[in-house]
Amino acid sequence: MDKLSYVSDSPTSSWTTYLRQIDRVAPYLGELTRWVDTLRHPKRALIVDIPLQMDNGTICHFEGYRVQHNLSRGPGKGGIRYHPNVNLDEIMALSAWMTIKCAAVNLPYGGAKGGIRVDPFLLSESELERLTRRYISEIGILIGPQKDIPAPDVGTNGRVMAWVMDTYSMNQGTTVTGIVTGKPIHLGGSLGREKATGRGVFMTGREVAYREGIQIKGSRVAVQGFGNVGSETARLFTEAGALVIAIQDHSASLFNDNGIDLVKLFSWHNRYRKIAGFQGAQEINTDEFWNIQIDIFIPAALEGQITLERAKNLDCKLILEGANGPTYPEADDILNERGIIIVPDVICNAGGVTVSYFEWVQDMASFFWSEDEINLRMDRITIEAMINVWNKSKEKKCSLRTAAYIVACERILMARKDRGIYPG
Ligand code: NAD
Repeated sequence: MDKLSYVSDSPTSSWTTYLRQIDRVAPYLGELTRWVDTLRHPKRALIVDIPLQMDNGTICHFEGYRVQHNLSRGPGKGGIRYHPNVNLDEIMALSAWMTIKCAAVNLPYGGAKGGIRVDPFLLSESELERLTRRYISEIGILIGPQKDIPAPDVGTNGRVMAWVMDTYSMNQGTTVTGIVTGKPIHLGGSLGREKATGRGVFMTGREVAYREGIQIKGSRVAVQGFGNVGSETARLFTEAGALVIAIQDHSASLFNDNGIDLVKLFSWHNRYRKIAGFQGAQEINTDEFWNIQIDIFIPAALEGQITLERAKNLDCKLILEGANGPTYPEADDILNERGIIIVPDVICNAGGVTVSYFEWVQDMASFFWSEDEINLRMDRITIEAMINVWNKSKEKKCSLRTAAYIVACERILMARKDRGIYPG
C-alpha cells in the first residue's frame, strides 16, 4: 500500500486508528481484498483558508476542511465539526468512519466530513455566522444535494445548518433544502433528527444487552459527554429504569451513587452550558470517573478516549460508542480479552445519519413525515442492522466491530468492484 504523504503515521492519530481497523477486517474479505486499498485512500481532501473580520475589526484566519472519503455507494454524507483540535488527519478518519457507518446500516451514501479548527465558544454569534458562510462558500465546489450533504457534529447545531442552507441557496439562486441535514424543522428539518443519535445508541445498546443477558433496569451507567448524543442517551437509559451514576463533560466529572437527577441537570446545563457546579452530585476527578464500577459505559464526547491504560481498568460489562472513534485499537484488544462487549460507533451512533437520510428524502419529495413514522422507520433500520452485525460476529467468531466492518466493507467493495475503475 502506498503511504499517504499528507498525514502523519503517529500511533495515536485517528487516521492510524482507522487504518488499523481496516487491517483487521481485510482477512475476512475474500476476493474483495483486492479492492481494500480503496478504503485506505480518501477520494478528495480540500483544505481552505477562511479569513474572518472579527467584531473588533481585526482579521483572523481559520483553517477549514472537507474530505470525501469514498463515494462508491452514493453522495458523501458527514457532519461539520467546529473544535480547536480539528485537523486533516481527524477529518479524514471521521469521513472514513462515515463511509463504514452508512454502509453498515445500508444507507445509499458514501462518507464525508468537514470542520474548522476553531473554538466556537470564543466567537460571537455574528462572527460564527460569517465564519460559517465563508467556509460554505469555500467548500461549495465540493458539496451539493446529490454530491455531498453536510450535517451537525461537535460544536455545530441547527442554527449553523440554517446558515449552511442559506449560503448554498444564495449562491445557487434557489432554495436548496437538501444541501444539509440537521436543519431547524421550519427550514426543512426532520422531526426526530435532534434526538436520533441518542435514540440509536439506546436501541442498539438495548438489543445487545438483551442478547447478552444484561438487565437495563437497575443497571449502573456512566456517560462521557453531555451534548447532543450523551444527554439524550442518558435520558433514555434513565427512562428505561437505569441509574446514570456518573457523567463527565469538558468542565467536570459528576458522581451520585443513587443516580443523577437528569431533569435538574438538564435545567442546569441549559443555563450554564456545562455540568460543573451542579449541586445534585459530587464532583470527582478524571481518574475516579474512569474507575467507577458500572454495568454500561457510554463514551459520547470525542475520539481517542479509551486508551490502553483506561481499558485495563474500566469496570463495566458493555460499552456503547456514542462518539466516533473513542477506542484505540490496542484498548479494543484488551477489552475484548476481558470479555467487555463493545457496540462499535459505526453501528451504535448511526441513528443520526439514518434520520438525516430521512430528512434528505423528505426535502427531495417536499413531503414530511410524522415523528412516529420517523421513529418507527429508524428503529426498524437500526435493529435490523444491529441483528445483522450480531449474527455476523457469531458466524465469524469475531468482535462486533470487526463484524460491522465486514458487513460494511463487503457492501462498499462490491460497489467499487462492479463500478470498475474509470478509465478502464
Ligand atoms: P456536542 O458538541 O453536542 O457535545 C460534546 C460533549 O462532549 C459536550 O458535553 C462536551 O462538554 C463534551 N466534551 C468535550 N471534550 C471533552 C473532554 N475532553 N472530556 C469529556 N467531555 C468532553 O457533540 P455531539 O453532537 O453530542 O457529539 C459527540 C460525539 O458523538 C462526537 O464524537 C460526534 O462525532 C459523535 N456523533 C454525533 C452525532 C450527532 O448527531 N450529533 C452523530 C453521530 C456521532
